[in-house]
Amino acid sequence: MVIIMQREATPEQIQAVIEAVEESGFRAFVNPGVERKVIALLGAMDAEKVSLADRFTSMPGVERVAPISEPYKLASRQTHPDDTIVKIGRVRVGGPSLTIIAGPCSVESREQTLEVAHAVKSAGANLLRGGAFKPRTSPYAFQGLGRQALEILAQAREETGLAVVTEAVDPHDLPVVMRYADVIQIGARNMQNFRLLQRVGQCGKPVVLKRGPGCRIQDLLMAAEYIMLEGNRQVILCERGITTFEDSTRYTTDISAVPVLKRLSHLPVILDPSHSSGDWRYVTPLAKAAVAAGADGLMIEVHSNPPAALSDGPQSLEPPKFAQLMREVAKVARAVGRRMPGRRPAQ
Ligand code: PEP
Ligand code: MN
Repeated sequence: MVIIMQREATPEQIQAVIEAVEESGFRAFVNPGVERKVIALLGAMDAEKVSLADRFTSMPGVERVAPISEPYKLASRQTHPDDTIVKIGRVRVGGPSLTIIAGPCSVESREQTLEVAHAVKSAGANLLRGGAFKPRTSPYAFQGLGRQALEILAQAREETGLAVVTEAVDPHDLPVVMRYADVIQIGARNMQNFRLLQRVGQCGKPVVLKRGPGCRIQDLLMAAEYIMLEGNRQVILCERGITTFEDSTRYTTDISAVPVLKRLSHLPVILDPSHSSGDWRYVTPLAKAAVAAGADGLMIEVHSNPPAALSDGPQSLEPPKFAQLMREVAKVARAVGRRMPGRRPAQ
């Protein structure tokens, strides 16, 4: 259930409604919307409690009371009609400018990471990605450099000014990842690791939440709900391909997830064409499709020598190809009224 306050409701009226909600045994979440406040009631809604709707409707400052039809509440557009903008330093994810997260799949060495970080920065990316703890399908595959990789990423941030996105695969790693990362990535394989989601919800840093390849859009939104319920509203949803019968690409890029998520949720939505295709030749066309479909940003893997990469070489773009992707995406961005990172609106 959501309580929609009148535009002119006073802070005292809003506070009185919050107290009444909590007295009734619910948790109250107030959206930070500027236009009008919406108060979401969180908790099991039994028949007796539903009758409370009448009580809230008659309170001063209340416009109306409406049921929430979806099982996720804080992630739903019903409780938060305006787009959420996630702030990462000077970067605004979900606003008029696109957010481009780029970098290597894995941090392999200082030299490799710094080279790619400088290259993606000069091509116009505004966030740096790089895996320190790698969730690999095979236990024999490269598992990441761990803490050493985090230190390398911190140096790359220092040199380029790009904020760092890196994955936490385990609640035990979270404290060390938190110390170095600006944004915590939850990988596709961990989308339903509910304890990890709750810990990340308590961490206070923005989160990129990747969709599990076998999970529905609704499951992704429920996973976001786990994070948000702990008080962290800074969640960026990432479509990264789903498993289907089609095997000409590594996964199937669910482009339709972009407009569906934008309709159902107020959270920013980005797309990762590197993992969804598994093939560098499809990364640029899919990146353009994502932006045309309304994505707020992209996550792209870049490596200076893809054949030698310790993970995901076949889907990684060399720096000149990444620069070309940025030029092509810019044309689509212009056509759909979005700006590339760092660009000021035309006067
Ligand atoms: C990654 O971003 O390197 C990664 C492992 O992605 P995903 O979780 O989407 O497979
Ligand atoms: Mn990867």
